[in-house]
Amino acid sequence: MGFLEVGKPFGWRESREVIEYVRTHGVAQFIAIYNKVKNIENDELLWGDELEYGIFIVDEAAGTVKLSLRSAEILATLTEREAKSEAETGCHWVPEYGSWMVEGTPARPYSGFANDLLRVESNMRNRRARLLAALRPGEVCPTLPCFPMLGVGDFTQPAAPPGGPFTESLFVPDLVINPHPRFGALTQNIRTRRGEKVDIRMPRFRDTKTPTGTGPGGPPPTSLQAALEMDEVYMDAMAFGMGCCCLQVTFQARDVQESRHLYDHLAVLSPIMLALTAATPVARGTLLDTDARWDIISASVDDRTPAERGGDCTACDEGEAEGEGIYSAQMAGGGRRPLRKSRYDSISSYICTHLATDQLECNQRLNDIDHPVDEAALQQLLDGGVDELLARHIAHLFVRDPLVVFHGRVELNDDEHVDHFENLQSTNWQTVRWKPPPASSKRLGGSADIGWRVEFRSMEIQLTDFENAAFTVFIVLVSRVILYFGLNLYVPISKVDENMKRAQRRDALHTQKFHFRQSITSAVPCSHRKMPSAKRQRLQQDAKKQFGQGCSSTEMSIREILMGNGKCYKGLVPMIMAYLHAVGADTRSLHTIESYMDFIVARASGELLTPAAWIRSFVRAHPDYKHDSVVSPRIAADLMTKCHRVGVGSEKAPELHGAFSIAPIRANDAYSAPLVSDPKVDDKETLLGDLVD
Ligand code: ADP
Ligand code: MG
Ligand code: MG
Ligand code: MG
Ligand code: MG
Repeated sequence: MGFLEVGKPFGWRESREVIEYVRTHGVAQFIAIYNKVKNIENDELLWGDELEYGIFIVDEAAGTVKLSLRSAEILATLTEREAKSEAETGCHWVPEYGSWMVEGTPARPYSGFANDLLRVESNMRNRRARLLAALRPGEVCPTLPCFPMLGVGDFTQPAAPPGGPFTESLFVPDLVINPHPRFGALTQNIRTRRGEKVDIRMPRFRDTKTPTGTGPGGPPPTSLQAALEMDEVYMDAMAFGMGCCCLQVTFQARDVQESRHLYDHLAVLSPIMLALTAATPVARGTLLDTDARWDIISASVDDRTPAERGGDCTACDEGEAEGEGIYSAQMAGGGRRPLRKSRYDSISSYICTHLATDQLECNQRLNDIDHPVDEAALQQLLDGGVDELLARHIAHLFVRDPLVVFHGRVELNDDEHVDHFENLQSTNWQTVRWKPPPASSKRLGGSADIGWRVEFRSMEIQLTDFENAAFTVFIVLVSRVILYFGLNLYVPISKVDENMKRAQRRDALHTQKFHFRQSITSAVPCSHRKMPSAKRQRLQQDAKKQFGQGCSSTEMSIREILMGNGKCYKGLVPMIMAYLHAVGADTRSLHTIESYMDFIVARASGELLTPAAWIRSFVRAHPDYKHDSVVSPRIAADLMTKCHRVGVGSEKAPELHGAFSIAPIRANDAYSAPLVSDPKVDDKETLLGDLVD
């Protein structure tokens, strides 16, 4: 989770007095940053991944697995021990939403050398080893997005009854929320702003003996009994979503234009990568008919009022005069502006400058969905010198309210602070996030070397670091290929949204096709560089010759997107390999990258299972399984133990990994020599994304 502030948060109702101030000043802070840093140029490629982990406790004799609510203690241990490790192999640890979760990143971002790609897996393995070393006997840390037993019976250690003032949940105790005041306030304020508990409903997987329940589409249940009788898998707390672990990758762009270009292109890829990494077939102890976490999280933080959701709100005005109702004039749009999406959702507009107003037709064709903006914010941005396309993006973030404001942090100098901008920015959780330099950046008077960045946010965490590294390296290389060859991946944004739906369906890799352009080498309508250099034009022509041209957007399987459709479209993986040869990557890097690509293609082709398919088949083949879609405590305990063993390489899962080998990870090695030898310094270093102009 982004942004942590200390102090006492406002409750939702009292915060109404300051939210308008925070929104207006948040926009002012963005304008101030933007104008200071819009002209920075030639930043180097820096990038890094984020992995989120859960800690669980298995009782083999009792046949149970529970959340171990010890993350604060574990985080302190990890941080303390980190002090004695080398920056090169080091890790950085931060809190997450759940009191059983931590997040880890490399201590320093990677730079733009090909053999930096070799460091990814070894750093991830270091992280897992260090986490292992901080566990107690009985604790495990398998890396799957969703804890299967969250919300089922007594599932925490220490035990606690469900509910509490933050969640009011039928299933989940408030104790699972990180004790930092931000997280409880976030949970409570989302619920209060919405006017009722969050309402998450996922389709139940229908097996041969799955009973039919009540619904669908009924009102939220008021008792646990009624909830369990529903056909939909109903969940009612933020933890069901924000308790999901993901894999994110952040890139620094060379300048603001490049960051906008990357944002758009990575957005197109977000559903593709969600489908490829799908690992969430179980929630609340039930097999789902979907494979990925996205819609669960989206609903778990949906703070929209009934009017914003487009529902009936005749009864909602009651108490408004006394300030007890849902709506108030201080809220963004008075709390009544129709909003089609949750604040955790896919992006709603492309922002690259080549779609700017001089390309109106192109803009309208690609930015083809309803994209509400806060009119006052939009005007403020335009008056502040921000171009309309970008102004609309920011004004779209500001159709939401700040959810957590801290006492004593309201009136700030907008030239020095960015808290209010970050407040909105860090609670608009979309498939990609466009990030201006933070207040700590050198460019803004701080000391950190941080420029314009884009964060890729759709991927699900994988069971092993081989897989996590493979997908990280893949998306890094795709981002380089997009820039190097000047690819054009644009499809209308409505089609990206359609792809997001398809990506979550059961077995999407094999049952779904995705909207994708066949002619990705036809240059974007106008390059984001003012004048394409002769060398760039030649490269684009080469790419056309090598990879074909013509044909418009179509629907393809993910295997075809990766490897070509046998017609004019030749596939992302061959382009990556051509790119690596063109920049002269060293053999050692090439070798590792090839094995990652082979692995990803094997998954896309169905030779290997997705984690979702593998987990589903594990459950269905378990002797305890009754073919009724229910995941029993014993099945869950065995599953989590197995996932842990696969993650640390002490047990093989050939259906997942084939012949790709995963060496064991041992806690004893956590702070000694790197587990996988790091690239030798004398290796020829090739710059990635060394843009030609
Ligand atoms: P978030 O705000 O999404 O929680 P984090 O700070 O947790 O972001 O992690 C972002 C990732 O970006 C980390 O892997 C980090 O190493 C990496 N990173 C740090 N600085 C830069 C930079 N200047 N450019 C790109 N990535 C960076
Ligand atoms: Mg982070
Ligand atoms: Mg996180
Ligand atoms: Mg974060
Ligand atoms: Mg992040």
